[in-house]
Amino acid sequence: MTTLGTPLSPSATKVMLLGAGELGKEVLIALQRLGVETIAVDRYDNAPGHQVAHHARTIAMSDPEQLRALIEAERPDLVVPEIEAIATPVLEALEQQGVVRVVPTARATRLTMDREGIRRLAAETLGLPTSPYRFCDSLDELRAAIDGDIGYPCVVKPVMSSSGKGQSKIDGPDDVERAWEYAMAGGRVSHGRIIVEGFVDFDYEITLLTVRARGADGAIETQFCQPIGHRQVAGDYVESWQPHPMPPAALARAQQIARAVTGDLGGQGVFGVELFVKGDEVWFSEVSPRPHDTGMVTMITQWQSEFELHARAILGLPVSTALKTPGASAVIYGGVDAAGVAFEGVDEALRVPQTDLRLFGKPESFSKRRMGVALAYDTDVELARERARDAAGRVRPVTR
Ligand code: AMP
Repeated sequence: MTTLGTPLSPSATKVMLLGAGELGKEVLIALQRLGVETIAVDRYDNAPGHQVAHHARTIAMSDPEQLRALIEAERPDLVVPEIEAIATPVLEALEQQGVVRVVPTARATRLTMDREGIRRLAAETLGLPTSPYRFCDSLDELRAAIDGDIGYPCVVKPVMSSSGKGQSKIDGPDDVERAWEYAMAGGRVSHGRIIVEGFVDFDYEITLLTVRARGADGAIETQFCQPIGHRQVAGDYVESWQPHPMPPAALARAQQIARAVTGDLGGQGVFGVELFVKGDEVWFSEVSPRPHDTGMVTMITQWQSEFELHARAILGLPVSTALKTPGASAVIYGGVDAAGVAFEGVDEALRVPQTDLRLFGKPESFSKRRMGVALAYDTDVELARERARDAAGRVRPVTR
């Protein structure tokens, strides 16, 4: 049974979000609607989620001392990691001591914080199909791995990175050194390990949002949203749509893989399982133990968005993954490097029928920073994609 309290009173149900970007902001809004007391944490002031939470805190979440001190001071019922760069050993220790519950589990947060833990779990422990891969700590090791069983073309990614940072494709021997240098510059930490993956010549890639939530009998049940198709440019998502049509055998295989990996990670909440598909063949790529950026489309396509699903699932409430309508999302980039940008053309964007918009409120814009997203619905996803792209293109970040 779930009991929810009154925020800012001794009965409050308190949830702390570690990471208060655009995804965290939407989870916070969903929690606010259920009367949950929210604490938003990020590494800089006035992050999107800071602006909608009861309490805003700014710390270095990768610093174990700062993270431990904050959790012990605030004593939330739940800690919800929304980013990967977190001092996860602190979360494991506090969870073990019974101080907090970590969503979905502290172990899942540790295993997915870099590419190595989750890849080894999926491929080596669970035996799921993935691209061939090797981990390398030097340019020589990278060359040896490619000359060994990886071959060309292949993809190099820093073990600690996201949104395509430091990631590049290698088509032949001349590209290897450049890819190594690029990965070294783009990684989140300087220990320099990379993964090299054989290139999978997939027909399309999907995110399968998978929800682990409590059923009426108290047992955890696994439910799937309709597959989300997406287009990536330089490892970063630029548009997504739902549902992505799939042959029944491929969908069944995708669900089987998603069930296996999320079942092992355990806990409650939404997972974004990234898969490559060719015909009926499916490869596991990655999983986020939290809502996924490509899943922003669910704010227009589902009765319960991935953020509402996450809020409900972590609180032990029932969920529905039912689709409301086909739809699409298109990213709005900053286009300029400046603080306090303004957005022209919001009215023109919303004049595109059957669209909606989210502007994240990030205090600083960079040319390639995701500042907002356009959403659209239609009777089929291709029409929705056109509307979303049209709306996104009408929003122009400008400096004043
Ligand atoms: P990731 O950061 O691992 O999610 O990769 C970002 C994007 O790069 C993916 O969504 C794919 O479009 C592409 N990609 C990554 N790894 C591979 C691979 N082994 N083969 C083909 N494409 C890949």
